[in-house]
Order: sequence, then structure tokens, then C-alpha cells
Amino acid sequence: MQKECKICGIPKNLTEFPIARDRKDGYRAECKMCMIKYKKEYYQNHKKYLEERYKKDILYKIKLNLECRVRTNFKGNFPIRSYNEINWLFSSRI
Ligand SMILES: [Zn+2]
Repeated sequence: MQKECKICGIPKNLTEFPIARDRKDGYRAECKMCMIKYKKEYYQNHKKYLEERYKKDILYKIKLNLECRVRTNFKGNFPIRSYNEINWLFSSRI
């Protein structure tokens, strides 16, 4: 099954799209390559703001650290697919 990326417009296999459980078809509208590009550009354009937020917003800092640690521990089998799930983790008792 193929799906057309909203950004680059290229039809790709569903495995090329990040999983998003809140979407109707279960995948994001943007392909993985476009997401990586977007994240890089977003970071470059908002570098100052993100660095400030990282210093001041403790929850944001914890979220980033947690995501990084989970990714490192699980390597290729990352169990959390979106920030929504990280938010869910924080709202439940751990
Ligand atoms: Zn794309």
C-alpha cells in the first residue's frame, strides 16, 4: 500500500511514514525523510528559542532526556512513536 507525502508529493510505501495513532490511517501525512529534513530546519531556525526553553522549561528538558534515553536503550525497537505517547507516560504513574 502506498501513500503520497504531503510535503514532497512522492508516493511511498507506508513503512516510509512515521506511525501516528491519532491519524485515521495510522500514519503521518509527511514521509520520514521530509520529517527529518523538517526537524533539522526547525532546529536551525529556532535554535536560540529551543536552547532557552531547554534551560528554563524543566518538563521539556525531562521529555527530551527521556526520549533520548529510551531511544538509546531500545535502539532499533523504539517503543514510543510520538510525543503524545511520552505525554501519556508522564500522565500515568511510573
Ligand atoms: Zn516526503
